[in-house]
Amino acid sequence: MPRVSYYGSMSFRRIDLHVHSSCSDGTDSPAQVMRLAAKAGLDAIALTDHDTFKGIKPASELVTECGVALMPGVEISTAYQGITAHLLAYLPDPNSKVLSTQFEKTLFARQQRMREMVQRLSRDFDISYAQVLQQAGSSPIGRPHLADALVKGGYFPNRSAAFEQVLATSSKYYVHYQALDTVAAVRLVREAKGVAVLAHPRAAKRQRRFLSIATIGELKEVGLFGLEAFHPEQNPQEQAQIREIGRKLGLKLTGSSDFHGYGKTNSLGQCLTDPEVFSEICSLGGGEIVRP
Ligand code: AMP
Ligand code: FE
Ligand code: FE
Ligand code: ZN
Repeated sequence: MPRVSYYGSMSFRRIDLHVHSSCSDGTDSPAQVMRLAAKAGLDAIALTDHDTFKGIKPASELVTECGVALMPGVEISTAYQGITAHLLAYLPDPNSKVLSTQFEKTLFARQQRMREMVQRLSRDFDISYAQVLQQAGSSPIGRPHLADALVKGGYFPNRSAAFEQVLATSSKYYVHYQALDTVAAVRLVREAKGVAVLAHPRAAKRQRRFLSIATIGELKEVGLFGLEAFHPEQNPQEQAQIREIGRKLGLKLTGSSDFHGYGKTNSLGQCLTDPEVFSEICSLGGGEIVRP
């Protein structure tokens, strides 16, 4: 029997807590994401765009029509001693000044970094910053938008091919950007009454270096709630490593698809979060889920 979360009057069984829309680097609008979540038979999703809350309101307007609950969230770009770490924040205060100020800084750092990447690429490809900006629109600009511009230019068939061939962290065109320190980020999330979960902490497909267990312990000290264990880009061995870290440090585990639309193979509901863990996040977070 699957465990069911009775948070409020509705029960939630199929819960996906890491989803992107076109407000960051997903390809579907927030409204479309909600419709796709209903189609995938999900009861609840967390919208976790990179460094912005912009998609929450338009997604919340589809909750009733789609019958899918929405947990407001965000995926914060951070780094610890040069190691990239994505931090999911659930149910923080969306009007938090500390978070919005940080998002503005990140946006600026992302723009500077993108100019540098475009400059490096322009030695071998006919590409301009304006073309990438056109793909990003008002979203925090990232490599997926750069991939889109290269696809549009006819260089690659899709985002994944562009990532594999020229946009990976190991590529000569890759440029790191200055992101918020991960420990400081967990503190900010707690200050904004959010619940902090470290996203895909062992996805070797994405990066070569990870936060050590000692560093994750440090994050736990300042209020980290959990680790994203079940994720399409983490194989069973990597998931087992995360389970072990979670057990040692007393951190909860989540599972999510990290859906980005047609730009990535991850499908909605591919990995799920235990209803009990979902309930716990609901009670710990300062904000409220939007329920049908
Ligand atoms: P950035 O934040 O600009 O460094 O870009 C990282 C983003 O690229 C991540 O959030 C992923 O969603 C996306 N990404 C990473 N690898 C791939 C891939 N192979 N195909 C498509 N998107 C990817
Ligand atoms: Fe992304
Ligand atoms: Fe991420
Ligand atoms: Zn993500």
